[in-house]
Amino acid sequence: MRVKDKVTIITGAGSGIGRGTALLFGSEGAKVVVADVNEKGGEETANEIRQNGGEAFFARLDVSNREQVKNVVQETIKKYGRIDVLINNAGIIQDALVVKMTEEQWDRVININLKGPFNCIQAVVGTMIEQGSGEIINVSSIVGLYGNIGQINYASSKAGLIGMTKTLAKELGKKGIRVNAIAPGFILTPMTSGIPEKILEMMKEKTPLKRLGQIEDVANTLLFLASDEASFINGAVISVDGGLLI
Ligand code: NAP
Repeated sequence: MRVKDKVTIITGAGSGIGRGTALLFGSEGAKVVVADVNEKGGEETANEIRQNGGEAFFARLDVSNREQVKNVVQETIKKYGRIDVLINNAGIIQDALVVKMTEEQWDRVININLKGPFNCIQAVVGTMIEQGSGEIINVSSIVGLYGNIGQINYASSKAGLIGMTKTLAKELGKKGIRVNAIAPGFILTPMTSGIPEKILEMMKEKTPLKRLGQIEDVANTLLFLASDEASFINGAVISVDGGLLI
């Protein structure tokens, strides 16, 4: 078991990449806190982990709400006594060209995708410092590295996460805490289900591996980063995109 007994909070674990990651961590021995604004999806994920013999509970959480974040962290410490891994995975898109983007669209994406991880990190970091150990992983995107038309809010939030990752890797390394990011390419999840087939085919063609990403591709990378196998990896941004943008 690669993350045995590691208490792991995964935001956005009620769907897509977060759910796949939560199930994998559950099967690899982690105690998983399934944190999501989506109650139905979150409960389903936690139930599935328990049915498979793992340990998990669901916590309703809007990552942009600092009070809720604090409560979920307190609940986790009360139940498991520590926090080993935080995966900042919750994220949304609200696309528009810059000329059409509303202030609400900008604020909502920044509040959830960028301020949300900041809220979660601030809430867990004191505990991790006391422990002298911890792994924080931020789910960025290739869009944060290379930009994308119609996604100024999303690209800015995901690029911001990379700055956050590198800064905290420097700040927290000496406390025994590793901070890394991943940058997935096109992964087949509910988030990308609205992308027209023609565009997905084009992306597949452009990818040297000639396929789109699966949830497991991302979940396996997160598992590796959270495990002791990655104990000398800090401040990295690992692309999980089949080589799409090389
Ligand atoms: P997804 O299937 O839409 O799952 C995201 C989950 O986060 C949903 O359960 C969603 O709930 C939840 N969520 C939304 N707002 C939240 C909030 N304020 N607080 C807590 N949870 C919230 O998306 P995904 O494709 O798995 O994406 C997961 C992460 O990977 C995101 O950060 C995304 O930007 C990133 N990513 C995805 C891809 C891709 O191709 N799929 C590529 C690069 C990066 P609702 O369903 O109720 O909204």
